[in-house]
Amino acid sequence: MNKEELATLFVRSSLSVRESLAKLDITGQGILLLVDQEGKLLRSITDGDLRRLILSGCSLDHSLDHLPYKKAAVVSEPICSRDILQQMNKCGINQLIIVDENEKPIDVVHRKDVDTAISLSLPHLGEEEQIFVSQALSTNWVAPVGPNIDAFEEELADKVGAKHAVALSSGTAAIHLALRLLNVGEGDRVFCSSFTFIASANPIVYLGAEPVFIDSEPDSWNMSPAALSKAFEEAVRVGKLPKAVIVVNLYGQSADMDPLLTIANRYQVPIVEDAAESLGATYKGRCSGTLGTLGIYSFNGNKIITTSGGGAIVTDDENMAREAKYLSTQAREPAGWYEHEKIGYNYRMSNVLAGIGRGQLKVLDSRVSARRRVFSRYQQLFSDMPFFSWMPEADFGTSTRWLSTVLINDDTLDIFELAEKMARENIEVRPLWKPLHKQPVFAGNQYFPHHPDQDMSARWFAKGLCLPSGSNLSMVQQERVADVIKFFLKAG
Ligand SMILES: *Cc1c(COP(=O)(O)O)cnc(C)c1O
Repeated sequence: MNKEELATLFVRSSLSVRESLAKLDITGQGILLLVDQEGKLLRSITDGDLRRLILSGCSLDHSLDHLPYKKAAVVSEPICSRDILQQMNKCGINQLIIVDENEKPIDVVHRKDVDTAISLSLPHLGEEEQIFVSQALSTNWVAPVGPNIDAFEEELADKVGAKHAVALSSGTAAIHLALRLLNVGEGDRVFCSSFTFIASANPIVYLGAEPVFIDSEPDSWNMSPAALSKAFEEAVRVGKLPKAVIVVNLYGQSADMDPLLTIANRYQVPIVEDAAESLGATYKGRCSGTLGTLGIYSFNGNKIITTSGGGAIVTDDENMAREAKYLSTQAREPAGWYEHEKIGYNYRMSNVLAGIGRGQLKVLDSRVSARRRVFSRYQQLFSDMPFFSWMPEADFGTSTRWLSTVLINDDTLDIFELAEKMARENIEVRPLWKPLHKQPVFAGNQYFPHHPDQDMSARWFAKGLCLPSGSNLSMVQQERVADVIKFFLKAG
């Protein structure tokens, strides 16, 4: 609760029972704080206290002087939400007043503020998903074909300014298909950002190819042009150019695509943009995901918009879009029977889920602004923490701030331990993506750091946290996140 809100709860004993009831009604917090002239807490007042006062014979015009003395349940700072909850349970109450060393109230904590889970990133539905899904159900278009899919693809392509979109069952499926479209196969190499979720690289391995990992640069936390150059020089030296480069746009921010495209174009190697986290972000005025030969999005439940599970490929290449649709529906040839010349996949998005996607696309812009707002609130809430450095927003575009991410530059802090402590407070924070070149499963794979002695992604992994960032996160929840983190940092 902020200072202004708290101040509205203060009452003096000269106030009448009627005025107190009116104040309880207006403030809506279920509690008033009776204080003396110095602002010291005398007791708390609830609806029940006033009801008992009236039942004992007081009229509405009597003053609060008639209330019996009752010690309020208070605690003093610093205190963590788990202790607050314990105290509430012990006293059988749903609000707890926090007082300073002079017994002046500085906060009122409600049970719901401390006992509900705060998740990293939750689905946030708009108003029209229901309509599109109902249409699909009532017209029996439940099969993985139908009018919602076609419309969703058209609306998505339109939204991001791509010529074609192909709706698929997941972002991972989209990457898999994108690499297939670029003829990645057995024994090939694919360059891939190291600082990312493993789904960016798994499809390389599905196709029997070998991932080579590329580090990030400090301005955007995305693929380092310097490291990419090095990787290409080395590839030329050993005579083994990659078939494709997967550039990941991390945590809602585009990579610096121009220099990356210049390098890849020099060797005539196509770029797949993994924009699973950056739908709604821009790069020099264009939509993230539309700068490479192919781009992919994810509509998984934790992404900026969701179809509960889903993905898409976007491209300006009509042949590739057609081939993607064909391969995603078991590569069926146009014949009157089931005729197959190639091995395909069952990767098409269903018509029902595309209905959710159509509703979600309509609220994409507002979800982006909400996530950006969440990020800037965190910056304010932690403005007294000089050793916090936030993920930068490069000047070439806007980030969606899909997740609010921060580096805590304190060498004595074990970031993983902090994440565990937060989990015990029912707050979901996550370490940053562990770089893929540090994953046991990729232990033998080649890796190119930003500079020979600067492994940026590994350094960030040791210091960074993703904070709860959902577009439906409330201010109260964000304050709790900040309070609990500060509590643990002070406690050491
Ligand atoms: C979520 C994600 C994916 C995979 O998307 P799914 O729809 O979950 O398969 C791929 N890459 C990145 C960077 C992601 O964050």
